[in-house]
Amino acid sequence: MGRDANTLLELEQLRVYYNLRHGIVKAVDGISFTMKEKETIGLVGESGCGKSTLGLALMKILPSTVTMMGRLHFDGEDIISKSEKEMQSIRGSKITMIFQDPMTSLNPVMKVKDHFIEMIRTHIPKISEEEAMSMAAKALTAVGISESRLNEYPFEFSGGMRQRVMIALGLVLNPKLVIADEPTTSLDVNVQAQIIELIKELKRKFNMSMLLITHDLGVVAELADRIIVMYAGHIMEISDAIELYESPKHPYTKALLHSIPNTIIEDMDLSYIPGSPPNLISPPKGCRFAPRCDKAMKICREKEPPLFDVNGAKVKCWLYGDKE
Ligand code: SF4
Repeated sequence: MGRDANTLLELEQLRVYYNLRHGIVKAVDGISFTMKEKETIGLVGESGCGKSTLGLALMKILPSTVTMMGRLHFDGEDIISKSEKEMQSIRGSKITMIFQDPMTSLNPVMKVKDHFIEMIRTHIPKISEEEAMSMAAKALTAVGISESRLNEYPFEFSGGMRQRVMIALGLVLNPKLVIADEPTTSLDVNVQAQIIELIKELKRKFNMSMLLITHDLGVVAELADRIIVMYAGHIMEISDAIELYESPKHPYTKALLHSIPNTIIEDMDLSYIPGSPPNLISPPKGCRFAPRCDKAMKICREKEPPLFDVNGAKVKCWLYGDKE
């Protein structure tokens, strides 16, 4: 996989395995893609498909029972070989993560300003408190909160405002890559729309790249340039965002689009995907979606399909390939 000048992230056959007492859970099992600078990729799939594990793997914040293999390069640097100390200087300053539940990510006994000072001083130890406060005020204002609220505690903010604080904390050091893991899931619909608008505006202002992890295809439609659909640790489809909604190719993508109410597909019939995702300790031999796929053929149960090129998209399905 060649790296061009504006490639920010390169994954090649990345595997992330949890070594548990009862077996090895292959949460991310050989996935490859690249991300360009300033690009937003939506990573979608059902719970347990490996999307959040992938987000955590990019920042190397996984338990010690995890094994990472393959190639994972960020901004030309090999993340897998980095020590914990080296990762500490990357997390927060070059790659940052915005989590689903801001209340559990903010320390309830620390004022908002102290969260900022702690984050800034981890990366710029010699910075004066005055300079750190000025950076914090700028970041907070950028997300639409008055700097006067730096002196307040997290419980004094509403859910939406806390998520804004988390976003400001994520952006204060101007990272190259923001990983947002279900950033709107815990919020009510009105606040979700405001946060989506805010993220759109900040993307323009800060020129950042974003990996947006979500089960909500409505959220990615608003924000992503490309979409990656994951299922059972594999990438099933990579496509331009508009193309994915207008012409989904993989049977799982089609099923997923029809399983969650959205405003993108006109006159959609809502249906559920029968069955459940496979056990990732002993996944099916062929296509991992075969037990739930109404298009499954003999080969699907015997041989794992590669990612086929289909009109600019990549699709892991035998319907699009040479079955010989
Ligand atoms: Fe369905 Fe076969 Fe395609 Fe898998 S490879 S999605 S089982 S048609």
